[in-house]
Amino acid sequence: MAGPSWNYVLKFIITGDAGVGKSSLLVRLTDQRFLANPDPTLGVEFGSKLITIPEEDKVVKLQCWDTAGTESFRSITRSYYRGAAGCLLVYDVTSRPSFEHAQMWLADVRAHADPHLTCILVGNKNDLSNERRQVLTTEGERWAQEEGLLFVEASAKSGANVEIAFETAARDILSKIRRGV
Ligand code: GDP
Repeated sequence: MAGPSWNYVLKFIITGDAGVGKSSLLVRLTDQRFLANPDPTLGVEFGSKLITIPEEDKVVKLQCWDTAGTESFRSITRSYYRGAAGCLLVYDVTSRPSFEHAQMWLADVRAHADPHLTCILVGNKNDLSNERRQVLTTEGERWAQEEGLLFVEASAKSGANVEIAFETAARDILSKIRRGV
């Protein structure tokens, strides 16, 4: 029988305020579709996807967990952090409060996750940036830099930068593995 078709399995978590698009990013990554009116009670909790990192000549199986509506049950959310190699910390570019709360989510990640965890800050809903933007790209960039996070703006609706967000984090994790960090 053939062996597994991937080199690494990496656990990712997706965190951030309710409504920023965490489930939508996961659905876009694994299913290439977008739901305008997702049923909040049917939040997607888990998705898996194979991605190739050509520079490292590796195939990675991402196992992604979404907090799926449990944002208010912080103690439940904490179990998601266990064993995670990567984190998407998501805010909504049309919601300043969601950007301000990202600080709290990052503190939570830092308190509970592995200290080597790679975290990428994702400014989602970039498709609405012309009319409704409340957080400038440069603000996201600057905060990410201060905190040592990777950064990208994305849209689960258009699909822009969604795979790139996961790939960028996975590439960073593989480079840490290669360097023995
Ligand atoms: P979650 O609570 O963080 O998991 O957020 P959801 O994925 O349930 O999304 C909340 C709402 O925002 C839903 O109505 C989505 O259709 C919408 N949404 C999510 N991502 C985007 C996006 O990139 N652009 C736009 N315009 N709407 C989005």
